[in-house]
Formats: sequence, structure tokens, C-alpha cells
Amino acid sequence: MDKIEEVAKNLIKKLEDPDSLPAPFPLQWLGKRSAIPFLHTLPLRSILTPWNITLSAQATYGGLPEPQYRGLTYFYPDNSIEIEMYARSVNTWIHELMHVAATKNGRDPGAKSIDSYGIDHLWIRDETIAEFGAAIALTCLNMEEHVDIGRCFHYVRCHLAHLPYPRTVATKCKSNLPLVCSDVETLLRTAGVETC
Ligand SMILES: [Zn+2]
Repeated sequence: MDKIEEVAKNLIKKLEDPDSLPAPFPLQWLGKRSAIPFLHTLPLRSILTPWNITLSAQATYGGLPEPQYRGLTYFYPDNSIEIEMYARSVNTWIHELMHVAATKNGRDPGAKSIDSYGIDHLWIRDETIAEFGAAIALTCLNMEEHVDIGRCFHYVRCHLAHLPYPRTVATKCKSNLPLVCSDVETLLRTAGVETC
């Protein structure tokens, strides 16, 4: 089995047993003095040039005790991309890169699929793929200490709570397995990481 798929399936097994999962990592602001040095320590920075990404940071914002958003990705009409980091979180950085990888695999970042309840199913799918994919990519990079599987579970579950029917986190991740594996593959391959 392909390494990425094997990693993904092992993570799904963990998500199937939520009681065994660790708590999410605490969220911290980047902080004024250490924001830029932190950005320079991030893995896969070699992706910035080929994907035309500008990386920026908000050290703090609005006096909030912890970041409301961990990071945001902006797609501009000239095909340039800006990733703005708020939280001191390698997992967040990879989550944002997963959103970019999805567009490199042909998916429109602005696409919506809104049902009669006003629920955007593509938003739920894309956030699931980004967060689950970050856990997969970091495991493939042997950076398990940054895999925030507890947050992955809570993040996806919060999004699934919008649905009018019950859906488990593990089931949602499993149903998107081909897409998420393809996005992780695109990300790691473009960054020059050998995964097999
Ligand atoms: Zn996201």
C-alpha cells in the first residue's frame, strides 16, 4: 500500500476511538518578537516559490487571549497566494498548505455547495481534508510531535455538527481518503519530499 494511504488509514483508526485521543494542543499567538523567527523554522518552506506563496504573520490581534483563527489563506486573481499565520502551530501551517494543494489538484477555493438548510458541504469537506491532511503530511515527514490529532478530531467534529444528520469524524475522513491522499502527495512531491 502507498505510504500516504497507509498513514491515513492508521490515523483513521485513532479517530475511530475518540476517548483514546489526547487533548488538542493549546493555541498560542505567534508573539511580536518571535513571529518572524518562527516562520523561518516551518517545514516545507521550499513550496513558497513554486506555488507563489507569500507568508505573513499577525503576532496578536484584537486583544483576544488566543487566536480566533489559527491561520488564513488568501487566493488572489493573479494566482498569487498569501498565507497569514496567527497561531504558533506547525500543524496550522500545513493545514493552510493543504488548502493550496487542493487548488493545485484542480479544486476551486471559492466553490460552494449550499443545501436547502444553508449548509455549505464543500466547506465542511475542504476543512476536513485540510486538517486531516495536515496530520497525514506531518506523520509522513516524521514530525509526529506536531501532529495535533486531538485538534483534528475536535475541528472536524465542530464542522460536522452543522450537518442535519449524524456523521462521525472517522467516517468523514474515510469518505475523503482519495482526495486527501492526492492533496498530501501533491504537497510533498512539490516540496521535494520522497514518501515511498
Ligand atoms: Zn482551513
